[in-house]
Amino acid sequence: MPKKIAILGSTGSIGVNTLDIVRNSKNRFKVSGLAAGGNIALLEKQIREFKPKYAALFDEKKTSLLKKRLGRLKVEIFSGIEGLIKVASIPDTKMVVSAIVGAAGLIPTFAALKCGKDIALANKETLVIAGELFMKHSRKKRVRIIPVDSEHSAIFQCINGTTNRKIKKIILTASGGPFLTYPAKQFEKITTRKALNHPNWNMGPKITIDSATLMNKGLEVIEAHWLFGIDENRIDVVIHPESIVHSMVEFIDTSIIAQMGLPDMRVPINYALNYPERVSTNLPTLNLTKTKTLTFSEPDYKKFPCLEYAFHALRIGRTMPAVLNAANEVAVQAFLSGSISFTGIPKIIKKLMRKHQPKKVMKISDIMQADLWARVEAKKLCER
Ligand code: MG
Repeated sequence: MPKKIAILGSTGSIGVNTLDIVRNSKNRFKVSGLAAGGNIALLEKQIREFKPKYAALFDEKKTSLLKKRLGRLKVEIFSGIEGLIKVASIPDTKMVVSAIVGAAGLIPTFAALKCGKDIALANKETLVIAGELFMKHSRKKRVRIIPVDSEHSAIFQCINGTTNRKIKKIILTASGGPFLTYPAKQFEKITTRKALNHPNWNMGPKITIDSATLMNKGLEVIEAHWLFGIDENRIDVVIHPESIVHSMVEFIDTSIIAQMGLPDMRVPINYALNYPERVSTNLPTLNLTKTKTLTFSEPDYKKFPCLEYAFHALRIGRTMPAVLNAANEVAVQAFLSGSISFTGIPKIIKKLMRKHQPKKVMKISDIMQADLWARVEAKKLCER
């Protein structure tokens, strides 16, 4: 019997790659539900190809158009946040792939958790803003969380069940993005076109900008902290422009285990979908004799202050990571739409973190409140 999976964020980069894996392993997986933001053309195509029982569109205004386009096709369509929750909670689904971008993924991912689904987690923001709550509930529900983020998939594979006490540190690798060697003086003039041109990975616009500011690595530090229960002083970030070593784990006996491969998201997705089994693929393989050199260096925290802010937010904890994340989401959108400069992104985050009075997180609404506050304040700053 194929394993039934639902995909939240099916029209994004991770969603499309997940469906590519499913397409090539039809005997292993069956898509039970698909959820997307507003890309009805692609969602329609996916529904026709994968024939899920349920689908959801976050953009409620476009739902009737989608229904019309699908005609008499046998699929139940839901909309809005309720629709995403429906797709996250389909009764006979074994695994939910959580691949919505940003804090918007939090509520539906929690819904999947509450229903006891295994979660292939690509939406790092869930752990960034609600890590403590999320991990607590996952233990209570005995839900398996398998990371899809390439670095965390690497760490997960390196740790391979070793107890926390035997781990000395996690070494997260970062490509450094397109501005690694760019002079700091010219950062002010960085255009969106340049920032969207990532050297190694082909991803959506939000995460590509986050990679250029190194905020993506900062968010991944917080993600790693919650996923693996490792304190921030035991998490190192190392710049590795070739993106071959996806991350490493150092153990107490000084042994370091690294996971390597070509930068292709289908590898960690395939691993997460099939976990704990390893399944063969037709994906291109790494030939180290062709790569020849792998280089590593320290990150420049002055040039990329976002990385430092993320460490700082993690140290402070409480609602601070939610504020860091919300401020960043607003600032990245403002940069993409041309209303602030590239260097405006860290400036806005810094201002909001200074202004915020972090509160203890008891429930999701505490996070949503901080998130909303930061969005409103960040928008004001962007409009100035
Ligand atoms: Mg990553």
